[in-house]
Amino acid sequence: MDNSNRVIVVGAGPVGLCLTLALTQAGLAVTLLESRTDENFLDQVPRAGTNHPATLEMYERIGLYKRIEPRGMIAPIVHYWERQGPQLIAEFDHALLKEDTSFPYVLQCERIKIVEEALSMAKDDPNCDLRMGTTFESFEQKSDGVVAVVTNSDGEQDRIYGRFLVSAEGARSLIRNQLGIEFEGFTYPDRTLNIEVAYDFSRHGYADRNYISDPEEWSNLFQWPGPPKRWRVHFPTPPDSDPETLLSPEALQKKLQAFMQTDQEFDIHGSNLYTVHQRVAKTFRMGNVLLAGDAAHVNSPIGGMGMNSGIHDAFNLADKLIGIERGEMDTDVLDRYDRQRRTIAVEHTQAQTIRNKKLLMEKDPVVRRQNQDQLRKTASDPKLARDFMLRASLINSVRQAEQIE
Ligand SMILES: Cc1cc2nc3c(=O)[nH]c(=O)nc-3n(C[C@H](O)[C@H](O)[C@H](O)COP(=O)(O)OP(=O)(O)OC[C@H]3O[C@@H](n4cnc5c(N)ncnc54)[C@H](O)[C@@H]3O)c2cc1C
Repeated sequence: MDNSNRVIVVGAGPVGLCLTLALTQAGLAVTLLESRTDENFLDQVPRAGTNHPATLEMYERIGLYKRIEPRGMIAPIVHYWERQGPQLIAEFDHALLKEDTSFPYVLQCERIKIVEEALSMAKDDPNCDLRMGTTFESFEQKSDGVVAVVTNSDGEQDRIYGRFLVSAEGARSLIRNQLGIEFEGFTYPDRTLNIEVAYDFSRHGYADRNYISDPEEWSNLFQWPGPPKRWRVHFPTPPDSDPETLLSPEALQKKLQAFMQTDQEFDIHGSNLYTVHQRVAKTFRMGNVLLAGDAAHVNSPIGGMGMNSGIHDAFNLADKLIGIERGEMDTDVLDRYDRQRRTIAVEHTQAQTIRNKKLLMEKDPVVRRQNQDQLRKTASDPKLARDFMLRASLINSVRQAEQIE
């Protein structure tokens, strides 16, 4: 194999793995570095899991879709509720997108299953030099490429040569920090509480995915295939509250009972607190080094866009690196990657996720009423509803990126 265009990808999260598979399947040599070992790889806190239609098309391209569909749950319907009542405000069906995509639904499939399946594909791929238990430390840029300095699984330092280096290391990207690239944006003062509970909320009329607005305590409610089959409920928490108190079994029960009163204790399977950042790197490219996924942008999970838009970065970048390898594109095309994906991160993902949170927590009763009326009107008009779903499913953002030169 020709190694002159070897790509070093740091991070076997969903973004690093999708990028790696798209490249290796096109014949490129990739070294994929992951600090976790085979032993602790699956031992990660629950995070993403809503996979939008545009992303499912990309999974299909690398043969990942057929592996995750049986482990996921097809969810065509999304609901918008008012917590007081509770009152269903609007229902949207992805079937409205049947002319736009061969996947007119969302696949609820936990991030951990996606990385498990993709990692197993990477292991079987002869073009992938996968190094588990290997931590990226630093790098040097050369005129014709990069040298990554890593600590390998034996605890020794190693130097790896490649033409391109991609940071798919997640939000705390060392590469972004070492390049001094600003991570512009803000952090919300409140944290979000995530509770995983085995209880069938569908018997109260909820769909598999629900956004529930309330001026005091908004929430998101999503069903997951598991096992065990369960629901994930998100609540905001006061900025200065004590994490231990918030996560105590009594506090979690109380939170859920206030949300849905039952005569039994909830069967809680897990909980965690997370801080929400809205940030975008000032540039996604510096020389032969590129940022993708959470390393390049982070946002609130309301709308399920973080992992999805990161995977869209991966495929956009893969097409350009493949074009360069085949001599069909000049390296200047990597600036187009920055223009396309950074614009989408700012104008679409950030804007939409900030709007989503504002919509859920709006306190002004007049504005709340206007928001509800607008949602009802949108859902009842097929054209408006389709436009709404094209945005929510990220089909629009992929189309918009293609228009950016
Ligand atoms: C509660 C919650 C719910 C969410 N729900 C959704 C959702 O429904 N839909 C959605 O689209 N997004 C969602 N997100 C966001 C989503 O989880 C992230 O956007 C996504 O995981 C980012 O993927 P990534 O591959 O860029 O980074 P990560 O998933 O963070 O992966 C980074 C990888 O790099 C490795 N690594 C880090 N540093 C090094 C190093 N120095 N050397 C080697 N390896 C390294 C890590 O071990 C890890 O495996 C949610 C997030 C949260 C917190």
